[in-house]
Amino acid sequence: MKKIKVIGGGLAGPEAALQAAALGCEVDLYEMRPTRSTEAHQTADFAELVCSNSLKSESENTAPWLLKQEMRRAGSFLLVDADASAVPAGHALAVDRIEFSRRVAARISAEPRITIHREEVTALNPDDSETLTILATGPLTSPALAAELQRLTGSNHLAFYDSISPIVDATTIDMDRVFFAARYDKGTADYINCPFTKEEYDRFLDALTTAESVPVKPWEAGALSLLSSPTLLSSRSKVEGSASLPPTAPTPVHYFEGCLPIEETARRGRDTLRFGPMKPVGLTDPKTGRWPYAVVQLRQENLRADSYNLVGFQNHLKFGEQARVLRLIPGLENAAFLRYGQIHRNTYIDAPNLLTETLQLRAHPSILIAGQLSGVEGYTESIASGLLAGRYAAALAHGTQPTPAPRASANGSLSFYITHALNPEKNKRFQPANITFDLLPPLEEDLRRRIRDKKERHRIQCDRALAAWDAWLNPPA
Ligand SMILES: Cc1cc2nc3c(=O)[nH]c(=O)nc-3n(C[C@H](O)[C@H](O)[C@H](O)COP(=O)(O)OP(=O)(O)OC[C@H]3O[C@@H](n4cnc5c(N)ncnc54)[C@H](O)[C@@H]3O)c2cc1C
Repeated sequence: MKKIKVIGGGLAGPEAALQAAALGCEVDLYEMRPTRSTEAHQTADFAELVCSNSLKSESENTAPWLLKQEMRRAGSFLLVDADASAVPAGHALAVDRIEFSRRVAARISAEPRITIHREEVTALNPDDSETLTILATGPLTSPALAAELQRLTGSNHLAFYDSISPIVDATTIDMDRVFFAARYDKGTADYINCPFTKEEYDRFLDALTTAESVPVKPWEAGALSLLSSPTLLSSRSKVEGSASLPPTAPTPVHYFEGCLPIEETARRGRDTLRFGPMKPVGLTDPKTGRWPYAVVQLRQENLRADSYNLVGFQNHLKFGEQARVLRLIPGLENAAFLRYGQIHRNTYIDAPNLLTETLQLRAHPSILIAGQLSGVEGYTESIASGLLAGRYAAALAHGTQPTPAPRASANGSLSFYITHALNPEKNKRFQPANITFDLLPPLEEDLRRRIRDKKERHRIQCDRALAAWDAWLNPPA
């Protein structure tokens, strides 16, 4: 039987190692801490929660609850430890992070089939016919291993930054001030355009360039220097930036051109935005019959069209400042923001192009990718993908081709999303995802028409998901 090498002792790695060991496999688990740490980890512990201590909602028939229920039914070891380390947190599962890590470490030590190696892995060998590898090195994968992964997968298939544009509630847009149009009327008029006069543009620019940024953490400032070559940049981030300093930044910070914060672009010259993300050419305002002085475009965020994102408006401003400045955009004076813009380091692969539904690299099927590196987002999602990767690798080690988690389940929907997110030519826009009902298969049209209550629809989706999941866990003999 093949051995299994798990790289990464965060959340996905330990769950994968424990699952594979429980299914009779010999596992080598590699963790580089404490020899080498990441910018966010504080300890050498397994399963360290680097920020909040919440594994999200336990309210019945919510999407995070569904994901956890499926994991519990599949015997997730880390969820057992999370439940045993729970602290009072209303409807959420929050844990005592020290106790949680202690329990996971004790469980791994007690598993005779797992051998722990405290060392950084820098090379991958997909041709080793004796070994299957589960790569679970997370959003802060060490630079040497990221370079190795890039070598195996190709230069444009790794992203190093997540840049998120703000999202606005559609019902709070002043539709009398904006207009739907496609540039030069090519294609359908899907974008909402917020038109600026020169005076409005000047006022907006002054507010944007003087707004207060989020203080830059030292590890964020140093993040760029961790990348050894410009070819390591994501497909959304082609060229190294020569950004000037935000006024509030205590340390120099470098951004990539492809995801430069909007306030940085604005500081490069008073017309830079008008010739870049706020370009008005080809967008005729029906009220004036002319192109406006500048335009902010809003793109539909979901199928229900109840939210829109501000195209190209990723930024590093404090949330309160974003609300103040973005409400100077014509049409958004009373906007409610569902999400604010952000930029943070996050290494993840271009899963729609690279991964199979059983989390194997298409070009190197002996390597599986799990956790945040695979394109899922969040603690619970990372543990969930470790659970799947461990089970898939164990099946492969026993000489059988694993069956992917069912599409109707929350676990299957997450895998389906990361592996099918967008068609190939649009893959530049692949963004990691948390579990939400949007990822699950929608109800049939007639059911949707009949059942107006959202909670009832979610209950039906949960029932269907759990039934499909149980059938997958217990296939007919
Ligand atoms: C700063 C930050 C804050 C976050 N906050 C939250 C939050 O509050 N809530 C939430 O749900 N999600 C959060 N996330 C997102 C995500 O859920 C976590 O990063 C989560 O820990 C991901 O799990 P993982 O197993 O994929 O990676 P990790 O938990 O990071 O585990 C990866 C492990 O691999 C090790 N490693 C890296 N490279 C190598 C190598 N070459 N050789 C050997 N070992 C290596 C690392 O030391 C690490 O222990 C945050 C992410 C970041 C970066």
